[in-house]
Amino acid sequence: MLQTSFLGDMILTTPLIERLAAEGPVHVVATPANAGVLANHPAVASVLVFDKRGTDRGLSGLRRMAQRLRAVNAERALLAQGSSRTAALAWMAGIPERITFDTSGGRLFTTRRVPYRRDLHHAARLWQLGNAPGHDDVPPPLRPSLHPGPADHAAVQALLDRAGVSAQERLIALAPGSVWATKRWPHYAALAAELVRSIGQTGERIVVLGAAGDAPLAAAIADAAAAAGGAPVVDATGQLSLLGSAALLARCQVLITNDSAPLHLASAMNTPTVALFGPTVPAFGFGPLAERRTVVEHPQLECRPCHAHGPPSCPLGHFRCMQDLSAVTVRQAVHQLSPPEPQR
Ligand code: SF4
Repeated sequence: MLQTSFLGDMILTTPLIERLAAEGPVHVVATPANAGVLANHPAVASVLVFDKRGTDRGLSGLRRMAQRLRAVNAERALLAQGSSRTAALAWMAGIPERITFDTSGGRLFTTRRVPYRRDLHHAARLWQLGNAPGHDDVPPPLRPSLHPGPADHAAVQALLDRAGVSAQERLIALAPGSVWATKRWPHYAALAAELVRSIGQTGERIVVLGAAGDAPLAAAIADAAAAAGGAPVVDATGQLSLLGSAALLARCQVLITNDSAPLHLASAMNTPTVALFGPTVPAFGFGPLAERRTVVEHPQLECRPCHAHGPPSCPLGHFRCMQDLSAVTVRQAVHQLSPPEPQR
C-alpha cells in the first residue's frame, strides 16, 4: 500500500488496509508526517517511511526507497496516492501487480486501473482498490480506524490534569486550523463565546485542537471564552501527537471542525462531528463518517465549490461561503448533535 498524500487521505485508507489484512500482511509506504498515525494499528504489518521531499528526494532517493520496498517481497502494490513518482517507485521495486485509479497521474506505470467513482466517499473509493479485476464491489458504510496507545492516552491525561479538568467534565473540541486558508471558518472565537453563554455552568470545557501553528487561533478562542465568563479553555495545539489528538477526541462530546484532518481523526474515533464546509463540499468525498455528524454549509451560493482544496484567498473577495456561516447557526448545530447538560 502506497499512501503518501495528506493525513486525511491516510486515515481514510484504513478501511482498505483492514480489507487487505484479511488476505495477508500489509506494508504501508507513508510520509514522515503521517507514518505515526498508523502506530499500533493491528492491520498494519510495517510502515516504510518515504521522505519524498527530504532525504529520499530525487532519483537516488527513489532508488534507495525502491530497494527497501523490494525487501518486503510484495506481490501487489495498491497506489492510494497515484502520482508518477509513487507509481515509478512500485515499478522500480519490482512489484508485479500495480493498481491505481484510472485518473491517477502515474497510471502508465501500473498494470490495472480502477474507476475513480466520484459518487462515493473517498474511504469507499480507496476500498475499491482492493476489488478483484472486473468487479465494482461497493462497501457497506465505512468508518476509518486508529489505535492510540497507552502513551497517547497518558499524554492526554497529563494535559487535562495540567488544565485542571476533572473526569466528569464534558469536553467540546474546536479545531480551527487548516493548511488551506479558505477552509478556515473565521468565527471560532465568536462560537466559543456563544457556547460559553449557552452552556453556562454545566461543567463543559472547550478544548482547542491543532498544530503548533494554530496557537494564535487557540489564543483568540481562549480570550473570547474568558471575556464571556467561561472556564479557562484547554489549549492542546502543538501538545499532542496525531494519535494523542485522536485519544483526546475520543474523550470529547463533540468536535467542531473545518474540512481538514481533525474531521477524519474524529471519524476514526466516532466522535460526534459538526463539519464546516466553505469552498469545498462533502460531495467531493471527504465528509465526516462518525455515526453522529452534521455538515454546516452555505445553503445557496452559486460559486460553491470553487476549488478542490480551497484557494489561498476568495477569488471573489467576499468569502461569503464561510463569512455567512454565523456562530449562532453553528452553536445550534452543536447543540442539536450534543445537547448541553442541564444547568447546575
Ligand atoms: S468563490 Fe465562493 S466558494 Fe470560493 S472562496 Fe469565495 S465565497 Fe467561497
